[in-house]
Amino acid sequence: MGRLVVVSNRVGPLKDTGRAGGLAVALVDALMETGGLWFGWSGNVSEEGSFGQMKTQKTRSVQMAQVDMTQADYDAFYAGYANRTLWPVLHYRLDLADFDHRFEQGYRYVNDRFATRLKPLIQDDDVIWVHDYHFLTFAASLRAMDVNNPLAFFLHIPFPAPEILAALPNAAGIVRAMLSYDLVGFQTERDASNFRRFVIEELGGVDEGDGHVRVNGRVVIAKAYAIGIDADAFSKFPMTPEARKNMTRLEKLLGGRQQIIGVDRIDYSKGLPERFKAFERLLEDYPENRGRVSMMQVAPPSRSELDAYIDIRRALDELTGHVNGRFSDLDWTPIRFMTRSFPRRVLAGIYRVSRVGLVTPLRDGMNLVAKEYVAAQRAEDPGVLVLSRFAGAAERMPEAVIVNPHSAEEVAAGLQRAITMPLEERRNRWQIMFDRLCQEDAAAWSRSIMEDVKTIRRN
Ligand code: ADP
Repeated sequence: MGRLVVVSNRVGPLKDTGRAGGLAVALVDALMETGGLWFGWSGNVSEEGSFGQMKTQKTRSVQMAQVDMTQADYDAFYAGYANRTLWPVLHYRLDLADFDHRFEQGYRYVNDRFATRLKPLIQDDDVIWVHDYHFLTFAASLRAMDVNNPLAFFLHIPFPAPEILAALPNAAGIVRAMLSYDLVGFQTERDASNFRRFVIEELGGVDEGDGHVRVNGRVVIAKAYAIGIDADAFSKFPMTPEARKNMTRLEKLLGGRQQIIGVDRIDYSKGLPERFKAFERLLEDYPENRGRVSMMQVAPPSRSELDAYIDIRRALDELTGHVNGRFSDLDWTPIRFMTRSFPRRVLAGIYRVSRVGLVTPLRDGMNLVAKEYVAAQRAEDPGVLVLSRFAGAAERMPEAVIVNPHSAEEVAAGLQRAITMPLEERRNRWQIMFDRLCQEDAAAWSRSIMEDVKTIRRN
C-alpha cells in the first residue's frame, strides 16, 4: 500500500506535547502506520509567501513540509474567505458573514499555489487526504494539474442546509470544486445529507444510494464519519501525577460543592453568553443550588483580531460580573471564568472532578470536549453530560441530557436534572456512551475513511 499524504492548514506536532489536540494525535497515528507526508501552512507570513523555500522535517517515517503565505494571501484566504465567509456561513450565521469576491479569488489562488508546491512531492500510489474548510477547492486545483491519485476530504465543521448555503455567492462553484474529491466526509448524517441534497437539487446530481452521488459521469462518496478521540488514552489522563495534583487543588477549593464545567475556545458558535444566562436561570429557578453549585468556564481566546470575538469576550466579562455580583456569598462564587488554556492531562482531571459537563454550542461540527468529558469520568461515580442538540456529537451521544441551547429555561432544567440524577442512572448512561467512544475512536475514524476512498475506481 502507498503512503498517506495529509494536507491541513496547520501541520503537526508529531509528538504528544500534552497540548496537541486530539486530531493531531489521530493523524499522526494514521501517518505512522503507512509512512507519509504532512503538508500545509507554516503559520508564517513572509514576502516570498508560497514561492519561498519549503520547510521540511522528518521524524521516523513521517515527513512534514510547510510553506509560507504572503500578507495578501493571509488577508484574503485565511482571515478573509476561511474565517469571515466560510466559518460563519457553515455555522449557519449569515448575519456575521462577509462577502467579497476578492476573498474567494484569494482563497482559490492559495489553494492553487499550495497544490503547485505539493505536486512534485506526490508519488504514484499515494492516497491524499485533505482537511477542513481551508481547502474545499484543493482537489480541483490538483486535478487541473493532472494529479490522479485517490483524493479524500474531511470537513471538520458543519455543512449547512442548501437553503443557508445558497446565500454564499458562487456556492454552486465551490460545491462543484468539492466534487473533484473522490470522497467527501462529514461529521454527521445531517451534514452529509445537506451536501448530497445541494448536489442533487442545485447541480443535477443523482442519488445512487449508500452515500454515493453521480454527477457529470463520476461517482463521489459523500458520507458521515464521526470523528472520535483516543478514548482509551484520554480516560487514563486523570490518573497522571500532573492531573492528580491539580484535582486535589480544585477539590479543596470546592469543599464538597458541585461544579459544572465548560471548556471552549471563545467563538460565537459556542453559545457562551447563552450558557452563562442559563446558569443564572438555574440559580433563579432552582434556588437550592445557591451556595452549592458553581460553574467554571475555561475559554482561551481564538482569532482575537476579529470584532465578533472581541464582543463576545466583553459580553462574558460583563455576565460574569453580573451573576457574581447578584449571587455571590462570603464563601461561594457562582462563576469562575478563565481565559487560559491547560495541558490536556490537567484538563482531563478538571473534567473528572466536575459533576456536570456543559457543552452548549449553537452549532458545532462535532465538539470533542463532549467526548473528552465522558472519557475522563470515573466508572463508579460518573458525571453527567448536558449537550446541545446542535453539536454534531449529539447524533452519537443520545444518552447525554440533550438541550436546546437557545432556551435558558430548558438548559437550566437540563442542569437541574443532571445535578439531581441518581447514581444508577448516571452509570447506565455513562457506560453506553463510554463503550461507544472506545469503539468509534480516532483510529476507527481514519481507518474507515481510508477504506472507503480506495473503493472508488477513477476512470
Ligand atoms: P473546536 O475545534 O471548535 O475548538 P472542539 O470541542 O471540537 O472545538 O475541540 C476543542 C479542543 O481544544 C478539545 O480537544 C479541547 O480539549 C481543547 N481545548 C479547548 N479549550 C482548551 C483549554 N482551555 N485548554 C486546553 N485545551 C483546550
